[in-house]
Amino acid sequence: MTATIIDGKQVAECIRAELKDEVAKLKERGIVPGLGVVLVGEDPASISYVTAKERTCCDLGIYSDDNHLPLETTQEELMAVVQRLNADPKVNGILVQLPLPSHLNEAEVLMAIDPNKDVDGFHPTNVGKMVVGEKAFLPCTPHGVIQLLLRSGVKLSGSHTVIVGRSNIVGKPLMNMLIQKNATGNATVTVCHTRTKDVGYHTRQADIVVAAAGRPNTITADMVKEGVAVIDVGVNRIEDATKKSGFRLVGDVDFEAVKEKASFITPVPGGVGPMTITMLMYNTVESAKRAAGICSES
Ligand code: NAP
Repeated sequence: MTATIIDGKQVAECIRAELKDEVAKLKERGIVPGLGVVLVGEDPASISYVTAKERTCCDLGIYSDDNHLPLETTQEELMAVVQRLNADPKVNGILVQLPLPSHLNEAEVLMAIDPNKDVDGFHPTNVGKMVVGEKAFLPCTPHGVIQLLLRSGVKLSGSHTVIVGRSNIVGKPLMNMLIQKNATGNATVTVCHTRTKDVGYHTRQADIVVAAAGRPNTITADMVKEGVAVIDVGVNRIEDATKKSGFRLVGDVDFEAVKEKASFITPVPGGVGPMTITMLMYNTVESAKRAAGICSES
């Protein structure tokens, strides 16, 4: 079997087109969704993520309140920016680009974000709501993983899904979303980590494998069964002398070998990556609707 490659860019574009329509309809009712973006310092990767988020806002018609702060910004100054965004009715979502420079207290900043504007879904209030199955902002990367599977026609309900990785931003929230008794859940979930005795024993039984370990070749062809659907969240830089940059990006899965056994597989880059920003925009639009008292069907 050779897998169908799930094109994350295409799925993301499709969701963005839906969001653009929705934003246009909201505008007719005088509602403009807004995202407050906070970046501290000059880290090139963070600048490029933030620029992509601001550009996507612009493409979709979402108002973006950009706050690019100097490296020497103090905790007090940063907290004041978050409080201003919390209080601004034009801002429905707040995104603080992580990691923050080491002199700043990341946890304190994230806790200060109004849970009603926590479009990253990292605030304990939203995490708790998600765990008990209440309506909450779903963290963007795991939500993107679920959308990639559902929109590719992979059945989650009744599946045995094995997640490799238990971080607070990917593995744990994905596990919580997949076990919910709802349309994006009903899976039986196993979570593996570095203390798991034999990761392959678990992944070989999986209908769906999600790799979020941050290590190249964590999932090899002998670790999966025929027909498995594989989502590769990992993004790893490996040396490549043929590239001008001296490196290339690979995921956690041995893509070339695993694609010969899988039914569906995501590439890196071009798989999960484009979904993360898209789901951030989705949450921002949701937040604007909630603030305006508009219920969404999902
Ligand atoms: P993280 O915080 O470093 O967590 C990695 C997890 O994988 C940990 O739970 C770790 O176990 C587990 N792990 C590592 N090596 C393993 C192995 N050989 N076998 C089994 N488990 C193993 O990473 P993260 O933030 O979740 O990110 C994971 C990857 O996804 C990274 O490459 C990151 O760049 C990528 N990512 C991509 C996106 C995107 O938008 N495309 C978004 C977020 C993250 P322990 O808990 O035991 O240490």
